[in-house]
Amino acid sequence: MPLAMSFDYVWQRSPENNIAPVVGMLSLVPFGRREIVGLIVEVAAESSLGVDKLKQVLSVRHQLAPLSEEWIHFCRFAAEYYQRPLGEVALPGLPKNLRAATTVALDRGLKKLQKQTVENDATPHAAALLNSEQQIAVDHIAAAKGFVPILLFGVTGSGKTEVYMQAAAQILARSEGEGESGQVLILVPEINLTPQLEGNIRRRFPDVMVVTLHSGLAEGERTHHWLAAHSGKAGIVLGTRLAILASMPNLKMIIVDEEHDPSYKQQEGLRYSARDLAVWRAHQLRIPIVLGSATPALETWQHAQTNRYKQLNLRTRAVPDAILPTVQLIDTERDKPSVGLTSTLIAAIKRRLERGEQSLLFLNRRGYAPVINCDACGWVSNCPRCTAFMVLHKPEQRLRCHHCSLEQRIPRSCPTCGNVDVQPLGRGTQRIEEGLQGLFPEARVLRIDADSTRLKGSAQAAFETVHRGEVDILIGTQMVAKGHDFQNLTLVGVLNPDTALFSQDYRASERLFAQLMQVAGRAGRAAQKKDGNISQVLVQTRYPAHPLYGALVANNYDQFATSLLQERQQAGLPPFVHQALMRAEARELADAMAFLQVAATSLNIEGIVMNEPIPMTMTRVANIERAQLLVESTSRPALQAFLKEWLAIMRAKKTSVKWSLEVDPVDI
Ligand SMILES: [Zn+2]
Ligand SMILES: [Zn+2]
Repeated sequence: MPLAMSFDYVWQRSPENNIAPVVGMLSLVPFGRREIVGLIVEVAAESSLGVDKLKQVLSVRHQLAPLSEEWIHFCRFAAEYYQRPLGEVALPGLPKNLRAATTVALDRGLKKLQKQTVENDATPHAAALLNSEQQIAVDHIAAAKGFVPILLFGVTGSGKTEVYMQAAAQILARSEGEGESGQVLILVPEINLTPQLEGNIRRRFPDVMVVTLHSGLAEGERTHHWLAAHSGKAGIVLGTRLAILASMPNLKMIIVDEEHDPSYKQQEGLRYSARDLAVWRAHQLRIPIVLGSATPALETWQHAQTNRYKQLNLRTRAVPDAILPTVQLIDTERDKPSVGLTSTLIAAIKRRLERGEQSLLFLNRRGYAPVINCDACGWVSNCPRCTAFMVLHKPEQRLRCHHCSLEQRIPRSCPTCGNVDVQPLGRGTQRIEEGLQGLFPEARVLRIDADSTRLKGSAQAAFETVHRGEVDILIGTQMVAKGHDFQNLTLVGVLNPDTALFSQDYRASERLFAQLMQVAGRAGRAAQKKDGNISQVLVQTRYPAHPLYGALVANNYDQFATSLLQERQQAGLPPFVHQALMRAEARELADAMAFLQVAATSLNIEGIVMNEPIPMTMTRVANIERAQLLVESTSRPALQAFLKEWLAIMRAKKTSVKWSLEVDPVDI
């Protein structure tokens, strides 16, 4: 991986190369037979390699202001923490256009930026009136000096966004008063939530340049937005996890909305947590950081409980007369579902239809049925390449593996015994949709999941039809749980959430609780209508006595988090220990395991717990066998020191096994 490493080059003044390189500049250098763009991380008068042996810098991209030492320092920290080379952190954070061999795109971007003035054609919106809790939060955040990590703990619909915006306005105004141009970075988990928020921010900051940074931008746009942030012209940068690596020379505050959200964790390549990096960046810059959530990550909650983070609470809904919905559990042993829905839930949907109100059904399982099987011989639709089932997709008439994307025709009869009666087992969103259409033929039913929103922009378009009131019943996966403010929605039905209760993954219940609180929070966002139904959340479960559901009914995150933290402490799990996970992949499981056995005995250091290598829960994906080795320590610095030494040993070993290391893994 040449892009990731550091190499020495020599620079010589010449008529076409007459501006001296400075740390933070990009430069074009020869690399093998190619010419590539690198980042200058050090300038020295000498090289240990001998100047005459070095290749020459071809050109320095002096038209682009150097990336700041602080930014490089930040990338260096991330690289060391996640045990990766600096270039692997620093370079992917830059738009592709800046890494191109020619400067055409860069010059075009700079020219466009020079001409650009702030233009927001939408009508400006005035700040909303704050309730007392919101006011206290804004005052605290705006008054924060230096590194102050703040947990903004607010129930769904409590107006966290309003707090962010008013605090940001004060921070930007203060910078301006001090004669500087300030910048605020706002991180959000999902791209499909950005347009709504982006519009709101633009209307509230008509004089501030607001840019977005996320993976859905076209390259030209991304370059332009990145340059706006890097030049300091953009006062507000709104982005997803990759935006944490943006260059923002005047950064004065960071906001991480829905800080608990799993999408802040990059799950391939450099497996970083944008939330954790945001805290570190704020620490480095000595600026406040606001972590907002109704269901904070346990790590964050623990920091707030031990006063390392300041906690600010928003316990009431911001819209007057909007009240939190009541949560009710439906025991599916007593009220047996037909077509996946209990009679209680069906009756509740019917009442919404009669009143012209909307219902939302949440089921975290896409497709028609998770598996098909043969009753006669017990055959099930296993994926031939993965430790997983092939999922039935009825509209497409296909079996599909959600892990390796393999597709097959639906067999007419059992491949093993020839029985023609192969049946779908279980229910996904497509099957519930079909059931709803049968029960309520007049109702307008819309399904939103990864299958129905494959095309770019289609998710946004689908959500807009819900906002316009053109949908009576919405059925969807976790995509529908987040952020959206549906004004006419008064019923949320949760289908089949139980599987997560018994998952091997110790984080599954934390995630389930957050998800259920989120989806429950979609109901009753607007003021209660006098003659309307009280907003209601109905959860279909076989385990109504489970404490997780008890905490959900009581709307009591504190209680849930406290008991979960106790469990984690007793079991010696994060946040009470720090972990790193080595993964190994090979054609044969034995090879992956053998490699990890060697790794497990390569270095022994006191205070480091080396677990036994084991096959991963989903052992095979796309015909590759996978195993893992977990390393733990109660001391983060000790673990970091160990990893550095251990990886140096492992990198020196020759092996055909593909391996990687993840620090602070979330899926074990
Ligand atoms: Zn059979
Ligand atoms: Zn597969």
